[in-house]
Amino acid sequence: MARRVLGAYDWVTSKGGGDSDNSLSRYRPNPLQQKIIAAVEGALARLPSVEKEIVERYFYQGQTIREISESLQCAVGSVERRRQNAIRKLRNYLSPFVEEYFGIKVRDFARCLICDSPFRFEIENLILHKPAKENWKRVLRSLREDYNLEVKAPQTIVSHIKFHLEEDNHG
Ligand SMILES: [Zn+2]
Repeated sequence: MARRVLGAYDWVTSKGGGDSDNSLSRYRPNPLQQKIIAAVEGALARLPSVEKEIVERYFYQGQTIREISESLQCAVGSVERRRQNAIRKLRNYLSPFVEEYFGIKVRDFARCLICDSPFRFEIENLILHKPAKENWKRVLRSLREDYNLEVKAPQTIVSHIKFHLEEDNHG
């Protein structure tokens, strides 16, 4: 399946193959396919670069988790966790598109404002550097003013840190 995805992607972007006589290189996506490709590319661009790289290697290049782990010198468990995080984010990013074009209401998979933010790591640093005795007021205001993120309750932050934080990014 991954190889088929790679094939389609390569015909579309004319990136791979290199064999111009291949009839598949004349493949032209129809308007809906073009929209799908643009939506997926847009969603991928919102991922942190390491997650984007893992998704591309896994789905476009057909590499296994172990192969990716070796290439990126990153533990197998960490690659798998990042891959799952990336898929959850892509699902959320693409859900408005899927709903608009296919009329399918996508269930929100553990949607988290902080996970979904393109400034996720900056926000995590802000949170992790909050002095323990300080309350959340300053952080909430910064989220609103600096990152355009309307977080109503500190519970969102606490859950994010507890369940979604990828420790190894903040070593
Ligand atoms: Zn989160």
